Amino acid sequence: MIELIGVYKNFGEKEVLRNVGMTIRKGEIFTLIGPSGTGKSTILRLINLLDVPTEGEIFFEGIDTSGPEKTRLQLRRRMSMVFQKPAALRGDVFDNIAAPLRFRKVPVEDIRKRVPEALELVGLSGYESRKASTLSGGEMQRVAIARAVVTRPEVLLLDEPTANLDPVSTEKVENLVHTINSRFGTTIILSTHDMDQGQRLAHRIAVVLSRTIGQTGTAHEIFYQPRNRDVAHMVGVENILEGMVKNNEEGLTIIDIEGYDIAATSDCPTGSRVTAYIRPEDLVLSTAEFPGSSLRNRFLGRITKVVAMGPMVKVRIDCGIRLISVITKRSFDELEIEEGGSVHVYFKASAVHVVRID
Ligand code: ADP
Ligand code: MG
Repeated sequence: MIELIGVYKNFGEKEVLRNVGMTIRKGEIFTLIGPSGTGKSTILRLINLLDVPTEGEIFFEGIDTSGPEKTRLQLRRRMSMVFQKPAALRGDVFDNIAAPLRFRKVPVEDIRKRVPEALELVGLSGYESRKASTLSGGEMQRVAIARAVVTRPEVLLLDEPTANLDPVSTEKVENLVHTINSRFGTTIILSTHDMDQGQRLAHRIAVVLSRTIGQTGTAHEIFYQPRNRDVAHMVGVENILEGMVKNNEEGLTIIDIEGYDIAATSDCPTGSRVTAYIRPEDLVLSTAEFPGSSLRNRFLGRITKVVAMGPMVKVRIDCGIRLISVITKRSFDELEIEEGGSVHVYFKASAVHVVRID
């Protein structure tokens, strides 16, 4: 329903978006994930028609948004955006949520009905007369969302809606995103720099790398089938290995990586140069020889580094090829392994995502 084609955006000399293309379907939750400064807010502002592309086209339900100001205004009214840094709310909660309805000249009796409905939706029933200045960060964000949805937009744009919230408030906002989407069928476009949030929330994801879209797809596609090194790096695929296909029999591919063989599943023919991507969670570590026959790849290596990351532990292993594994703290403790020690590394052929280089 929203289509960006060859969109470029410059601010003065500075190119901020380069050849951005994507299609957002009606009724889906679509997330833009990427580090800060890559252009997410700029994309949202362009979709919301707050700004115009330097080059390229944006269509809203087939309507060219570069049309006359009147058309743009009509289209804008079908969307609502919650900004990353919302203007400080003033006055009481009721007035803040009622403002966009008053602006649209909605009759007073409807406003009296719709404001409590919006508050109920965001879990803040009874907050009408609370002063905005007395709200917590999480409450403030939910009021901002209530204000955005009270006009019943077809498209809701949320710019890093949980960037400054604690985990409990974050979960509330994430649940709210799901509720709004499933109850009203609202198309939701949300930006985040939080990989996990992108994965939890989205039907589809666009990975925003500096100025461009690295890949668009489902969470599974993005996280397990990254298209290139930059996307893989971004979504936490720690093992990126280059090699040459030695053999391919009915999809079981043997890749030579610096003299070591890795079994993968792919349709890349013998002789092709490839990049193999393996998620660190897909490596199984064991101190004993492991009998599991589905784990075609087996290496013995030396542990070069161990780094604790909250409930997980990152283990670097030199098996001739260097691999990185991420396991739970519990598994790590049970394995009784340490830096300098040796460990077996196992992974399935199907855990290796293979992309042809040329
Ligand atoms: P993100 O939301 O991913 O952090 P932004 O879209 O806010 O990224 O910004 C992308 C780049 O564009 C940044 O380098 C930012 O400084 C620049 N930028 C954004 N808006 C403007 C503007 N109005 N004028 C000049 N530069 C801008
Ligand atoms: Mg931003």
